[in-house]
Amino acid sequence: MIRTRFAPAPTGYLHLGHVANAIAVWGLAATEGASVLFRIEDHDPVRSRPEYDAALVEDLAWLGYVPDEGPVRQGEDPAPYEAALERLRADGRIFGCACSRTTFDAWEREHGGAWSGPGCPGGCRQLDLDGPTLRVTLGGGTERWMDLLVGPCAGDVAPAGDPSVRDRDGNWTYLLCVVVDDLRQGVDLVVRGRDLLASTPAQIRLARLLGRDEPPAFAHHRLVRDREGRKLSKSSGDTSVRELRAAGHSADEVVAMAAVAIGYDGDPNIGRRPVERPAFDETHTR
Ligand SMILES: [Zn+2]
Repeated sequence: MIRTRFAPAPTGYLHLGHVANAIAVWGLAATEGASVLFRIEDHDPVRSRPEYDAALVEDLAWLGYVPDEGPVRQGEDPAPYEAALERLRADGRIFGCACSRTTFDAWEREHGGAWSGPGCPGGCRQLDLDGPTLRVTLGGGTERWMDLLVGPCAGDVAPAGDPSVRDRDGNWTYLLCVVVDDLRQGVDLVVRGRDLLASTPAQIRLARLLGRDEPPAFAHHRLVRDREGRKLSKSSGDTSVRELRAAGHSADEVVAMAAVAIGYDGDPNIGRRPVERPAFDETHTR
């Protein structure tokens, strides 16, 4: 059976962007016959908070989305990430990097453009450092895939240098966690927003380096944008599911809002459990 996942980070409340993602995840799961794993991506211990974690679970249930498995959390067990790091290290692909934001900025000022390409601007790979950041040598070049929603895609695996797998504070990065999890959890359909299109080549390559010859299928859907055309962020308070609930909107209405916002052309309710409608209240009629 195909397995996909719904994988928010507990660094804020669910907002309309997540709802749009849930519509696409459960919709594609229903049409492709896939099961949905609920994965809470709490790899960042500084920004992840228990109250957001609890709210993600509760809001998702309120919306009528029922995962087949989970929730599972990245913070539960560091062993899979450690094992991946050791495998990459044994293959000579891990290097310590002392570059900071300042190093990248200085390079950009000096060269009139951001650092791009393999390695890092400080040439740390040749210096045999222990850290503080650990980067993976991806090998450069491009990866291609046929996106279920975008069509044929291709991109540079290291557009901003070789990416980090552990940050300077010792935390696993999103890149490492998502690739390791999708591999070990048997996720073979990744449905997410187009803000992650540019990260896909690095993820495909890193998965290859960890033994995954066949990448998952990818489906990148449109993004919900705010009035200024920006992607919604955690601070987009007025679009959080919490706020919309508090304002009296039903789950059906919130799902419809997200579907309209991304111009979803399918039935946004496919895969959703029917949600009990609030009792008819005359005060709401005009
Ligand atoms: Zn460096």
